[in-house]
Amino acid sequence: MIASAASLAADLRALLTASKVIDNPVELATYAYDASFFTQIHPHPPEVAVIAGSREDVSALARFAHARGIPVTPRGAASGQAAGSVAVQGGIVLSLHAMDRILEIDRANLQAIVEPGVVHARLNETLGRERLIFPPDLGSTRMATVGGMASTNAHGMRAVKYGPTGSWVLGLEVVLADGTVIETGSIGSRAKQSSSGLDLTKAFVGSEGTLGIFTRLRLKVMPLPPARALVLGLFDRLESAGESVQAVFAAGITPSAIEIVDQRCIQAINLYRPALRLPEAEALLLFEVDGAPAGARWEAEKIAETIRSRATRTEWSDEPGRMAALWEGRSVVGAAIGLLRPGANRAYCGEDICVPVARIPETLREIQRISAEFTIPIATYGHIGNGNLHPGHLIDARDPSEVARVQKVADAIHDLALRMGGTTTGEHGVGAVRRPFMEREHGAALGAMRAIKRALDPRGILNPGKIFADDPGDEQGDSWRQARGPG
Ligand SMILES: Cc1cc2nc3c(=O)[nH]c(=O)nc-3n(C[C@H](O)[C@H](O)[C@H](O)COP(=O)(O)OP(=O)(O)OC[C@H]3O[C@@H](n4cnc5c(N)ncnc54)[C@H](O)[C@@H]3O)c2cc1C
Repeated sequence: MIASAASLAADLRALLTASKVIDNPVELATYAYDASFFTQIHPHPPEVAVIAGSREDVSALARFAHARGIPVTPRGAASGQAAGSVAVQGGIVLSLHAMDRILEIDRANLQAIVEPGVVHARLNETLGRERLIFPPDLGSTRMATVGGMASTNAHGMRAVKYGPTGSWVLGLEVVLADGTVIETGSIGSRAKQSSSGLDLTKAFVGSEGTLGIFTRLRLKVMPLPPARALVLGLFDRLESAGESVQAVFAAGITPSAIEIVDQRCIQAINLYRPALRLPEAEALLLFEVDGAPAGARWEAEKIAETIRSRATRTEWSDEPGRMAALWEGRSVVGAAIGLLRPGANRAYCGEDICVPVARIPETLREIQRISAEFTIPIATYGHIGNGNLHPGHLIDARDPSEVARVQKVADAIHDLALRMGGTTTGEHGVGAVRRPFMEREHGAALGAMRAIKRALDPRGILNPGKIFADDPGDEQGDSWRQARGPG
């Protein structure tokens, strides 16, 4: 049993040579949050935070924590929206953000070897200088670390053509719960594909810090497409927008991104950027295509032609300035939504469902109904090409009744996603917030997931309270604190 946070910090300082140990309560308060609404209302500071400086330290820390049964919660940039990187059961938060070296860009083999703390935008800026790209393209590109992305299997706008982060991870160096270091994807390999053994890389991707701690990643990269083009479509019926997406696929085109913003988002964008003067519409779609210049132009023209009969306005461009202007509304929407209700707070809960593409219009109408039922304004946008929707709920967080109602809204939206034949999380992960839905979502498969968790982490020290935990009471955390007695 650990006597106190101070003695835990002292033990860790004696053990670790390249890492920083934090036990000052003021600094620890910053580790109590991520971008979720859950941590806004239930912040959980850890006993101690460690900023990891080397793989050897991560391994030594895991061995130490494993021997004593102390929870360890890995953390990247804490841009996650599921409370995944917050220590809901106390213990140690292990931040990997300072292990941020791009170790090698292997141009000949189209691979990058990186540490987990590399921020996504920095990786692509570096790759871009060599005309290469790591395609997953998330809205939090300037915050999210590649370790966090692999751990949540982040998707983003271009997943419709290029798939999730997991499709671009060839191998991982992982510190297991007992401190053992393994390399997945064959030791020292630079092969781009493999059928050798169980695909452990896939098992660790998306495990949200519950199976192991990533200390190095071998990523697949690709040549930067030479050209892009963009098509905008405005629709007076959600159904016409949904049908247009299906018609574009039926025309044999796979856009690199297909984005939707709904009527409320359009109103918000016009408040935030009045110069854009977007017309009133039930939905706005953006289709991005990429490839050779002539091919991108051809596809953009073809998309415009395909959607024209259903849209109230279409436009396409491959001119960089115009494309930036067309993208602008979509890129500011997250911030713009707040203007729909001055003084309101966007509550990130029930914010990441994914439904079958064919059921998007129906889902958007149901979200509007839920909004009316609970009298909480909701503006929705998302990656419609894959069916991933981000409803944005606006509340006055000082009003306890709105705080209670928005949590019911989140439950209703998660329930809706499952009824539609979808999932409660398209890209943000389960974390602490969506685990009550895991049994219903996965049934017996959740038992198989638990068996893997138990095999790799028999003492349950890695990110407890996430994905697998089934005691509803420990959502407020603290079971480890209670077990260890007064600190
Ligand atoms: C404005 C905004 C836009 C966003 N847009 C998108 C989007 O388009 N697509 C998308 O998928 N997500 C998006 N997100 C969510 C978030 O950015 C992603 O989930 C991202 O992958 C999290 O990375 P992070 O470094 O912040 O990880 P954190 O939030 O710190 O951690 C996330 C999870 O990963 C685990 N983890 C972190 N590092 C490691 C490691 N080295 N080893 C093992 N486990 C680890 C943590 O324990 C936690 O469970 C957005 C968030 C915001 C705030």
